Amino acid sequence: MNNIVTRFAPSPTGYLHIGGLRTALFNYLYARANGGKFLLRIEDTDLARNSTDAKDAIIQAFDWVGMDYDGEVVYQSQRFSLYTEYVEKLLKAGKAYYCYMQKEELEEKRKEAEANGQVWQYDRRYRDFNGTPPEGVKPVVRIKAPLEGEIVFKDGVKGEMRISAKELDDFIIARSDGTPTYNFVVAIDDALMGVTDVIRGDDHLSNTPKQIVVYEALGFEVPRFFHVPMILSPQGKKLSKRDGAMSVMEYKDLGYLPQALLNFLVRLGWSYGDQEIFSMQEMLEFFDPSNLNSAPSSYNAEKLLWLNAHYLNMLNTESLNVILPFYGTNVPNQEVQEILYPEIKERSKTLVEFVEILKKCLNPVESFDQKLHQKVKNDENIHFFKEFLVYLNALKKPLKTPQEVESEIAAFADFQGLKAKSLFMPLRYAMLGSSGGVGIAPLIAALGIEATKERILKALESLQDIGKEEKSF
Ligand code: GLU
Repeated sequence: MNNIVTRFAPSPTGYLHIGGLRTALFNYLYARANGGKFLLRIEDTDLARNSTDAKDAIIQAFDWVGMDYDGEVVYQSQRFSLYTEYVEKLLKAGKAYYCYMQKEELEEKRKEAEANGQVWQYDRRYRDFNGTPPEGVKPVVRIKAPLEGEIVFKDGVKGEMRISAKELDDFIIARSDGTPTYNFVVAIDDALMGVTDVIRGDDHLSNTPKQIVVYEALGFEVPRFFHVPMILSPQGKKLSKRDGAMSVMEYKDLGYLPQALLNFLVRLGWSYGDQEIFSMQEMLEFFDPSNLNSAPSSYNAEKLLWLNAHYLNMLNTESLNVILPFYGTNVPNQEVQEILYPEIKERSKTLVEFVEILKKCLNPVESFDQKLHQKVKNDENIHFFKEFLVYLNALKKPLKTPQEVESEIAAFADFQGLKAKSLFMPLRYAMLGSSGGVGIAPLIAALGIEATKERILKALESLQDIGKEEKSF
């Protein structure tokens, strides 16, 4: 389809969370896949509830996930005069009018109706008013909504929607202080920005008829709408922070990769056969909003982890080197990168786990696991550590690869009449202090003989008090 223009229009009253990012992604994919435009509009008219931090975090999150938008970010707070112009236009055209009904009376009527189990609708008393306005009352501006018929639109997810004109009243488009109201500005902006397709959460479904009233009053073309069901918790409830309703940047802090998060989100509410893993290229190729699901999707933390492990495993060394400093670790030397990165990638699901294992490999053992200590503490291992230190001291060549380490351990075991296999547990104890972590031969190859000797010596000290003995190695 040609000339698709979509937009993402967050309100910066809180941080960008994953529901918002999913909406942005759907809009982004649809525009990009069709050579169209994807626009970003910050809906910051609620000056009291907006936070600059939240605005910045939205832009930051876009940067992090690599979603680019066209043109400059549009800030509604900078467009008040434009909105006022359109209020004037409608007033002039007789499509909107001043309403002098006092707030207090309105409140009273509303309460009265509520007490009777009804919803009060403004009675349009000023719709055709041409008398003298009451003194001292600052009027609001109301739009002339249709009195009969239906507002009909085809929602790309929900199907055909029909709303009787009776359900709408002449809603306010400008408050008594002159500020424009939400549905009015959304419609104006979407129209002026040339938005052809609006994909958004279905919590906005009930706003759509009002926005259509504004479009029609101003003679703008109504865009296509796609109202996407919410992301629910696994229990089918509103997503809580515990379930994953976090700010997008918190996912970064927790060690998730943007590729994984986007892949995870695209599948919440959209599917393409039973494919689970989508590169950005594939998302662009296959995404079609007409395949958006009308049933709510549910958040699955395990699946996100699984996807993250997948993308983490695919990261190349250069990318890892760029990312690692964010997680508080320097880029290690070449040997470590080449030998240990693949080992650690295989064993971690998040970058936080990756860095934990990396640090465990690189830092001298601080404390030994008690259970392992009990298992390892015997005379044979004390003997083994001592002999192995002598052996390593006498070694004339460096051990550069895990294979070289393994064959050297085998040669040593052979020489000592031991089984090479039985040496790996004490070596793990010495090199890492506990079970888990990476393979021991790769670790020795990556750290080199000197660091290995230091760790073995420390392990030996932990097994026996050799402080008083003369160290012969
Ligand atoms: N600003 C609205 C929100 O953050 C979205 C408006 C829209 O997409 O039309 O929920």
